[in-house]
Amino acid sequence: MTLIELSQVSLTYPHAAAPALSDLTLAVEEGATLSILGPSGCGKTTVLRAIAGFERPQTGAITIAGRPVCDAAHWVVPEERGVGMVFQDYALFPHLTVAENVAFGLQRLEKAAAARTVAQTLDLVGLSGFEDRYPHELSGGQQQRVALARALAPKPIVLLLDEPFSNLDPDMRGQMREEVEDILRLTCTTSVLVTHDHDEAFAMADRVAVLNHGRLEQVDTPEAIYHTPATPFVANFVGQADFLLGRVDNGKLHTEVGIFENVGGHPAGVAVEIMIRPDDVHIVPASPGGARIVGRQFRGSENLYTMLLPSGQHLHSSESSTTVYPVGTLVDLKIVATHIVTFAKR
Ligand code: ADP
Ligand code: MG
Repeated sequence: MTLIELSQVSLTYPHAAAPALSDLTLAVEEGATLSILGPSGCGKTTVLRAIAGFERPQTGAITIAGRPVCDAAHWVVPEERGVGMVFQDYALFPHLTVAENVAFGLQRLEKAAAARTVAQTLDLVGLSGFEDRYPHELSGGQQQRVALARALAPKPIVLLLDEPFSNLDPDMRGQMREEVEDILRLTCTTSVLVTHDHDEAFAMADRVAVLNHGRLEQVDTPEAIYHTPATPFVANFVGQADFLLGRVDNGKLHTEVGIFENVGGHPAGVAVEIMIRPDDVHIVPASPGGARIVGRQFRGSENLYTMLLPSGQHLHSSESSTTVYPVGTLVDLKIVATHIVTFAKR
């Protein structure tokens, strides 16, 4: 069942030169996590603010659990939308204790019921015993757990998370991602996670929506976004990608590194780019080889090699952590493209 639906939503801020959102159509299934992924300024926060009711799009419609909350004829105020929000900077109330922060959205409950919910939610996020602390007495990770508990306590229809891990240390980030994912699954919470980090989107989301300048470039599973990006922008944004020039001849795509299926059905004679990911390229030393290693980045779990091809183009290859060849080595390329992705030459 679709829980959140945005239909052709467009939003321009006052005095802005360009729209923050253009004709955005998106759906979130019940119990699923949708990630909104894109570079800074592409409109990610604006999507959340439109769902939450902090901004009103000029055109389009939004429904939450089948109820129109925003269109030409309807407007539901934020506190009536059943939406929980975790902000990038947590936005905890500094003068309230942990328990008071979490109780903030529970004013409609009786005192005893609210206290029970606070205790259960703090237990869920692993903060039992911290009830009487103030936010400044907590670590970043603990503050984030309080923010999460405050958003979850009123049992929202949907939880909106705006770059929730960006203020954490890298090691804490990985741990909190896993914890938040577990909590979302345990509580069957539908969520929209905003991030500019593709690893985070891939690790946590069921589906990923890639935004660029307020427009949706692609929405799909993490695997499809990575392996079969719909646009060069998506291909580049979600990982290392090289684009090699090809031409169609006899129904096949000819490039300087081999011949591929013309999956895009491009007509003969037009210039085509084929996208190649480093994990599809393997190198073996050869003499004389067609390509030469011009760089190696050791990344712990892999070595990322940069090769110079005879045409002057660069191509990258991901080799195992222990496969070390010196810069200058001549190599043969073995390309095993699990997914062939082509674009008309830009
Ligand atoms: P993101 O969260 O992806 O970084 P935002 O949704 O915050 O992007 O912003 C999208 C665009 O709208 C940006 O160009 C930003 O400068 C602009 N913008 C955001 N908030 C406002 C505002 N209150 N008034 C005017 N322009 C804004
Ligand atoms: Mg933002």
